[in-house]
Amino acid sequence: MSTAPRLSVVMPIYNEQEALPLTATRLRPILDGLGIDYEVVGVDDGSTDATPVIMQKLRQDWPQLRTVRLARNSGHQAALTAGIHRALGDYVVSIDADLQDPPEKIPEMLALAREGNLDIVYGVRGDRGTDTFFKRRTAGAYYWLMRRLVGKKMPNQAGDFRLLSRAAVDALKAMPEHQPVYRLLVPWLGFPSGEVLYVREERVAGSTKYPLSKMVNLALDSITNFSASPLRLATWLGLLSFVVCLGLAVYSTAAFAFGSTVPGWSSLFIAMLFIGAVQLICVGLLGEYIGRIYSAVQARPAYFVGYDSAEDEWQGKSR
Ligand code: UDP
Ligand code: MG
Repeated sequence: MSTAPRLSVVMPIYNEQEALPLTATRLRPILDGLGIDYEVVGVDDGSTDATPVIMQKLRQDWPQLRTVRLARNSGHQAALTAGIHRALGDYVVSIDADLQDPPEKIPEMLALAREGNLDIVYGVRGDRGTDTFFKRRTAGAYYWLMRRLVGKKMPNQAGDFRLLSRAAVDALKAMPEHQPVYRLLVPWLGFPSGEVLYVREERVAGSTKYPLSKMVNLALDSITNFSASPLRLATWLGLLSFVVCLGLAVYSTAAFAFGSTVPGWSSLFIAMLFIGAVQLICVGLLGEYIGRIYSAVQARPAYFVGYDSAEDEWQGKSR
């Protein structure tokens, strides 16, 4: 590619052998129809199925498809980081590979960004009717909490389907964080933004790559990345215990004065267990932060790129 493309579409892909051909078939005519230079940065997040073979086949008659292969599975957000860091376009759209984010919205996002001179266009889920009850509920709780942490400028129900301008991408790249949670960091940037409503569709094929454990991790990363208020919980619990303790001191002094002090095993036992539990919770909370400070200090990269088809092209090779 001699000139930088106007648009980069970043797509994290992990074991999507069933979905990928369908995604390519639906995405390509839309991007071709834009009439601008574009690239699709397919980030293969260390897939262990036929995904790399399919990508290579697709590339044979779709030169705009660029494949970036990570050396190992690094997770959705890390794959997104790899794609956003390597994208060359003036605008960068990130989209899932399972057609849950409708590619038909890309032209709308681009038009909105250009007309309004916007740096960010969020894809906002208007309806999650096709998600499971459990996913809707956990997502609802997640966004409720996140809006309290980041503030109202975080659009509700905006996932990782969004458009970023070159300026926004450069701002994100300049952050020292190795593993940002984009859905929080992008609103935090506070750049001029717009929204495009879309209906979250059902995954076109294959199964979700986001088990509960990964969702819990994302939620913990999101909270600790943006707020220290859980740490303050220890102070509040300590104060509360102190007040309760004052009351109990009065009570026990009175009981002593009236000579009825022998029975009391249950209350002592419960108080001991309670204080023990509160202390362990607080130590656990500290641990969450210290663990993250530790990995931030280690500053290990979130991903390793094993192969980038664009580098071959720049060197005049083709694979
Ligand atoms: N994904 C990835 N690495 C992972 C897990 C997922 O690159 O370790 C990709 C996946 O291929 C998809 C996107 O991230 O394009 C979202 O994942 P998925 O659709 O499984 O999540 P869900 O929509 O169920 O939350
Ligand atoms: Mg999905």
